[in-house]
Amino acid sequence: PIYLDYNATTPVDQHVLKEMLPWFTERFGNAASRTHLYGWEAADAVADARQQVAKLIGATEKEIIFTSGATESNNLALKGAYEAAGAERRHIITVVTEHKAVLDACQHLEALGAEITYLTAAPDGLINLRQIEQALRPDTLLVSVMYANNEIGVIQPIADIGALCRANGVFFHTDATQAAGKITVGVEYDCVDLLSLSAHKLYGPKGVGALFVRKGTNLTAQLDGGRHERGLRSGTLNVPGIVGFGKACRLAAATMPTERERLKTLRDQLEKEILETVADVRINGNQEKRLPQTTNLSFEGVDGEALLMAFNRIAVSNGSACTSALVEPSYVLKALGVPDDLAHASVRFSLGRFTTEEEIAETIQHVQEVVARLRA
Ligand code: PMP
Repeated sequence: PIYLDYNATTPVDQHVLKEMLPWFTERFGNAASRTHLYGWEAADAVADARQQVAKLIGATEKEIIFTSGATESNNLALKGAYEAAGAERRHIITVVTEHKAVLDACQHLEALGAEITYLTAAPDGLINLRQIEQALRPDTLLVSVMYANNEIGVIQPIADIGALCRANGVFFHTDATQAAGKITVGVEYDCVDLLSLSAHKLYGPKGVGALFVRKGTNLTAQLDGGRHERGLRSGTLNVPGIVGFGKACRLAAATMPTERERLKTLRDQLEKEILETVADVRINGNQEKRLPQTTNLSFEGVDGEALLMAFNRIAVSNGSACTSALVEPSYVLKALGVPDDLAHASVRFSLGRFTTEEEIAETIQHVQEVVARLRA
């Protein structure tokens, strides 16, 4: 089937894989080995990758902590900041449409005594500055708002939120897993203190990520041991993964301007033709403030499960969490006020580097046929 689930994960780019391979075999050294060439060359490769990752988000190398992915980065940001803070800073502000790695970390902290404000997004998925302003308290430690949503692609007003947080002396964390490599992300412009990244969303390998930690942002490590990564994340570095992550960031930065336009054109074409030729389809989320390669569509009057089963020529997702026998509609769409049956009949199409015009044409035709058949 045609792969249109790039927000779930991306294939490793051939150029990335090629760069990674030697670091599995002949150059297998431990980047923390200080006594021989094997260690030195691994450390050099990690340093180079760190520079590439930093560059993609406008950070300095010293501010990048390598992790196992965005789940770990989000956990380290929230739990680490909470643990390092004093008893007078126990309040965190976040949004109901965040990724589970943020929401569940918040829940974990609630059990430890944190107070969490969960803001609701508007029906178009956006939150506004006033909501955050009103939620701020003297004991607020941190605000966590994702850069771009994985299900609907909506881009939050990150620079405004960052400025507000800075003016109020509150840390600002953003989960930029879906934004980095797709749109311009800059930790200075956006006034971000903590930012999560994952390599496998930008054509790097799975199981590698990073947390940007601005100088002066106090965190307590969540993994203790050999004091790697400035003591914030112990554990032998995944050198091949990190090398791949660095290369992936370099490629993303180089191709972003053209890819962004190419994918937006294809996404808009997909959306426009489906909306014009299939009745009762609606787009979920704000249409302007949105990632260029994501669209989330609801098909009215169609059974959601039957719809996804019938889509056998495309690989798409409905963003729903399957818990054993129970298929829950997406909590993100529900939070935007989309009724359950419509949320079930919603499909996320996410395009990427290897999506072609032909694939989009075939997808349009397939969607037309499937929906017509199910509605007949
Ligand atoms: N945050 C967002 C917004 C994501 O889309 C994902 C991946 N589904 C994650 C965090 C988790 O990233 P990882 O797979 O690297 O743990």
